Amino acid sequence: MRDLWLFAAAAMTLAAPLDAADLRQAIAADMPQLMSLYRDLHQHPELSMQELRTSAKLAAEARKLGFDVTEKVGGTGVVAVMKNGPGPVLLIRADMDALPLEEQTGLPFASKVRAAARSGVESGVMHACGHDTHMSAWVGTARRLAALKGQWSGTLVMILQPGEETGEGARAMLEDGLYTRFPKPQYALAFHDAAALPAGVIGITPGYALANVDSVDVLVHGVGGHGAYPHTTRDPIVLASRIVTTLQTLVSRENDPQEPAVVTVGSFHAGTKHNIISDEARLQLTVRSYTPEVRQQLLEGIKRIARGEAIAAGLPEDKIPEVSWREKEYTPSTFNTEKFAGRALELFGNHFGADRVTKTPAVMGGEDFSRYRLADPSIESLIFWVGGTPLDTWKAAEGNTQKLPSLHSPFWAPEADTVIATATEALTVAALDVLKRL
Ligand SMILES: [Zn+2]
Ligand SMILES: [Zn+2]
Repeated sequence: MRDLWLFAAAAMTLAAPLDAADLRQAIAADMPQLMSLYRDLHQHPELSMQELRTSAKLAAEARKLGFDVTEKVGGTGVVAVMKNGPGPVLLIRADMDALPLEEQTGLPFASKVRAAARSGVESGVMHACGHDTHMSAWVGTARRLAALKGQWSGTLVMILQPGEETGEGARAMLEDGLYTRFPKPQYALAFHDAAALPAGVIGITPGYALANVDSVDVLVHGVGGHGAYPHTTRDPIVLASRIVTTLQTLVSRENDPQEPAVVTVGSFHAGTKHNIISDEARLQLTVRSYTPEVRQQLLEGIKRIARGEAIAAGLPEDKIPEVSWREKEYTPSTFNTEKFAGRALELFGNHFGADRVTKTPAVMGGEDFSRYRLADPSIESLIFWVGGTPLDTWKAAEGNTQKLPSLHSPFWAPEADTVIATATEALTVAALDVLKRL
């Protein structure tokens, strides 16, 4: 990372505005504190919608900086408002939740926390998606913008969102009056750390950036019986297997090849014993797309295929598979508006130097950040990536991300100081641009 910094510093003297060096220096001075906050958050991860300690700690930080802070918005959500004269309203969001994973990074401040999810299942807990870097940069940005109050005009709405991993936090905050109890934004901004970029490199995807994510359950009925007498049964394992196979044609044969789509059967459960033909099988699918039209086509296709295969297997009408999708867990696709994404590409390119800013392809992961724009599509919205893979690791793998730990891996250990410093700088620069003093 160090050579990149040097390169950027050299390029900056030519291209960046005068105060860029000051900003970088101020952030560097904040880094020891931001890193100790980061290590603390990393050591004390909390599962989705249970972010009690985290939210209380960060709400206190925002209060110290002079924000008007409201806690418990949509569960454990925090809204920190700073009104600073006329101008646009800018929302900056960080998410707070960790994942049910046992950390295996070997870091000295690795999490040893175990906790029970709301389902009652206990597991290790780890910030394996890097939301701890998001929160640390959120605090870093709040600090800078509070200190630079004389250089911007408008309203800042800085929010900490619970439950991103379960796809429910953004909705919970919106339903709890995020846009009615607090100033409604014209701009929404966030970042996510990235395993698929070297540390300190910013990635921006104009247009669709992340996918629609649906969780689909298929309950396949059969007629159970003795394994020795299959002719007296209707075997749901054979039927469910056919369904799984035919589902593969949804993307390969029915979907327009120009339209991204994924249908993955992630779970297949049936039966108890060698010689019993079970009377049901259960499938769990993740289904991904960008547009509402493709989403609908996939969901209806799953229903049709399950039904068709059951008819072919001779199941009567009252034993047709039950297909359902979990509307509550649905995450809509994330769209970076062209204007905001284009402006950020230009702005970050000038500020950090072209070597540290790149256009990145869209991915099939999901993010409920999408909901802040979907609640009012006139909102300019952008979530960008900040690379977290240490440069030497990146080089050793020759940039082949299949050889590197991904987000949600128990081995994911981003170069946190670089991510936090870069993200703080980028969020601050973008905020100062949106809230320009005219
Ligand atoms: Zn995640
Ligand atoms: Zn995440």
